[in-house]
Amino acid sequence: NLTEKFDSVFKKLRGQGRLTEDNIQEALREVRLVLLEADVNFKVVKDFVAAVRERAVGQDVLKSLTPAQQVIKIVREELGRLMGEGTDNSLDLAARPPVPIMLCGLQGAGKTTTCGKLALSLRKQKRNPLLVPADIYRPAAIDQLKTVGRQLGIEVYDTQPGQDPVAICEAARRYAELNGFDTLILDTAGRLHIDEALMGELGRIKASLAPREILLVADAMTGQDAVNVAESFDAQLQLTGVVLTKLDGDARGGAALSIRAVTGKPIKLVGLGEKMDALEVFHPDRMAQRILGMGDVLSLIEKAEAAIDKDQAAKLEQRLRKEGFTLETFRDQLQSIKKMGSLESILKLIPGAGKAMKQMKGMQLPDKEMKKIEAIINSMTPQERRDHKMLNGSRRLRVAKGSGTTVQDVNQLLKRFTEAQKMMKKMQQLGPKGLKGLMGR
Ligand code: GDP
Ligand code: MG
Repeated sequence: NLTEKFDSVFKKLRGQGRLTEDNIQEALREVRLVLLEADVNFKVVKDFVAAVRERAVGQDVLKSLTPAQQVIKIVREELGRLMGEGTDNSLDLAARPPVPIMLCGLQGAGKTTTCGKLALSLRKQKRNPLLVPADIYRPAAIDQLKTVGRQLGIEVYDTQPGQDPVAICEAARRYAELNGFDTLILDTAGRLHIDEALMGELGRIKASLAPREILLVADAMTGQDAVNVAESFDAQLQLTGVVLTKLDGDARGGAALSIRAVTGKPIKLVGLGEKMDALEVFHPDRMAQRILGMGDVLSLIEKAEAAIDKDQAAKLEQRLRKEGFTLETFRDQLQSIKKMGSLESILKLIPGAGKAMKQMKGMQLPDKEMKKIEAIINSMTPQERRDHKMLNGSRRLRVAKGSGTTVQDVNQLLKRFTEAQKMMKKMQQLGPKGLKGLMGR
């Protein structure tokens, strides 16, 4: 898949010491292939690669990042930009209620499902939506929406097959006005292919209801086809945005990457499953990261490298390897850790470290605290620092006295230290990315 492919492109770069025109060129050739294979629109790929090249070549070589990291960083940023990072992609419902939202798209794209998901999500935001079945060609379509509504406890406007969809929508709007619904979610008809009759019908609904949002529901699995569909619908209806469904499946990612660049319309929501809660607001930066598949490890490395003096970090790493994580290395680490911000903010970046994070709550170390910890550790004998388990009651008392603290302080420090030790184990399990990343390599 796309993620694995990117990974293998970057692996090759990892061996290189410096960013040169040649190795950038080589990496970009492969990035280009990866994107085309993922069914990203050809012109989008061309512009994308050009943008990355320009930035990579023109850039001062950052001493703290390897060439691979540097290119990955640029690729990630450009992917985010391509998908609309930095622009407001949220639904605009600021209008006089009832606010109509029209969902359209081909048959099977996920319109009816998305109507239900959207209604649920709006209700969670304290809105009061009414579901409107405007797909009157298949009786089953109305039933499907009714089933969804019943399941969610959200009202579906009552209508019979065979009525005119525009008349249904207008009647539903009057009904909403009279009954206090503030949002209309219009589930429109789909076809297997785009045809003029359908577009005409959707155009008439649009003209009559003036929907605040006209969202195309598109199936991510269909890749470039989804992009073409988006272009056609946009030409006819002037979409306000796109809902990309089935991103939970084995989507090649091409649609997510191309739609915005091709149509200029933002992806606003994504469907990540068949269940009613599987709808999320679209975050370009998260999507970019998901595509690159590196979790937040990369930003951890960046953060660490930016903050820690490399020589010092290298020495510390050597010592850690030789001596293990002891109170002594812990003390020497505190300064570096402090430069990187709170432990919590660092742990947040590590995939799967959520639990450790909870344990570390309150481990943010203000200066005073830091001095206290140093004083306590300094009052220990070298053996005690290397093996904290030998600190029994009487030794703890001696250390407390020597450092001008209390036995409780000493106990607390030892408790925290054991927690930190656990955390270090977790990081080490991440391999080179984890520990080396943290230590700045
Ligand atoms: P419509 O014809 O556009 O109204 O499409 P439906 O809402 O009936 O959905 C068609 C099929 O796609 C159904 O089986 C849905 O369960 C499924 N579906 C819709 N959205 C998603 C999604 O985000 N992920 C997955 N895996 N399936 C979805
Ligand atoms: Mg439907």
